[in-house]
Amino acid sequence: MMSQNVLIELNGVDKSFRAADGTARNVLEQVDFTLQEGEIVALLGKSGSGKSTLLRIIAGLIPADKGQVDYRQQPVYGPVAGIAMVFQSFALFPWLTVQQNVELGLEAQGVAPDEREKRANAVLEMIGLAGFGGALPRELSGGMKQRVGIARAIVTNPDILLMDEAFSALDVLTGETLRNDMLELWDGDRMPTRGILIVSHNIEEAVMMSDRIIILSSDPGRIRCEVKIDLPRPRDVDSIEVRALIDEVYGLMTMRPVQEATTGITAPAHLGYRLPETDIGRIEGVLDLLADTPFDGHADLPQLAEESELSDEELFPTYEALGLLGLAQIEQGDITLTALGRHYVEADQAHKQETFGQQLLTHVPLAAHIRRSLEAEPSGTLPEKRFLELLEEFLKAEEAKRVLEVAIEWGRYGEVYEYDYHTGRLTLPDQDEA
Ligand code: ADP
Ligand code: MG
Repeated sequence: MMSQNVLIELNGVDKSFRAADGTARNVLEQVDFTLQEGEIVALLGKSGSGKSTLLRIIAGLIPADKGQVDYRQQPVYGPVAGIAMVFQSFALFPWLTVQQNVELGLEAQGVAPDEREKRANAVLEMIGLAGFGGALPRELSGGMKQRVGIARAIVTNPDILLMDEAFSALDVLTGETLRNDMLELWDGDRMPTRGILIVSHNIEEAVMMSDRIIILSSDPGRIRCEVKIDLPRPRDVDSIEVRALIDEVYGLMTMRPVQEATTGITAPAHLGYRLPETDIGRIEGVLDLLADTPFDGHADLPQLAEESELSDEELFPTYEALGLLGLAQIEQGDITLTALGRHYVEADQAHKQETFGQQLLTHVPLAAHIRRSLEAEPSGTLPEKRFLELLEEFLKAEEAKRVLEVAIEWGRYGEVYEYDYHTGRLTLPDQDEA
């Protein structure tokens, strides 16, 4: 083992956060991870799986609860000078010029003003921002702003670069250009950085950029599996090798944890299950697309993605919803319409909604709980606050709110309960109609 080549090493890292009511929630559990010199590693996982938390632990911004975190064989106790981070939200100071924003990191390191200016200029030039030093962030496009974010990170000559969804706020083309420019700098050995860890939502991006992909599972975040990529860069997105890898990673991402997969049934979701962020229109749109030619009920996920023109970020929650509601089955990178899903596609509007409601009551404990609670009330109505408080026992306030919103939207559609936006109350549906 050439341990001198290990940049970052995590052993048995746990992290939990306290919810509003004081109970601890495990976010990361038993995470082992290494970043070797010369590597780009991509970290994939669902939203909320702890990716940003892991990056912050590595950068020394927050401590792990348990386990060991080393940077070049030294334990990490606080912010590490050799590690720079690029954020999704550009995090630029609006009142400072591009040049001043970039110089900021150097100022903190005590670099003299003329040296700062020289280095900032060199980096701005390298990253395609020559001539923009005097501009204010608001005068720049999203892509240019993110270039400033990256310039600010690399001007400090970081040993390690951590990128937290750095390209995902950009439109596809801009993101691609910026990512290619970065790879050119990296592969051309034009930056001093020895290792890059990127967090991404985008499978194609991870396959195009990295030497290794790590997939994190959720609740708690654990490292589920790893895919090594030995293809030289730049990679051709349409090559057979890249397509096959994208397929493989798709399959791994949509796979349920092993113990559930082997039984072949979807484990029932618990009350605090994070209902996927998707709406009815998208669920039905994807279902229709899947049922239609050329797929006729069975599709390779990347192909369906292409046909749908939706992003992975929109599609994954939708697949999850389809699986959860028993309308489709997702396995190893393929999606198949179930018999019920077929029936659903062919049904008229009223039957669609009825089926949706039935599936919701059977498979989504939160919806069933809301319905039962309303039935137990003589008035048949309750404030949403009551369910929000319940969810906050499992989830952070913001996430609890989001999950309840999904449950409300789905429940209204399935006519399981009604919701009044003005009063914030949930009510049993009008019985006369039934
Ligand atoms: P990801 O980046 O994969 O979307 P995060 O690492 O941001 O996930 O968050 C993982 C989980 O930890 C989420 O449930 C989030 O709500 C929770 N979390 C993150 N930071 C904090 C914090 N400072 N306090 C409480 N909970 C947090
Ligand atoms: Mg994050």
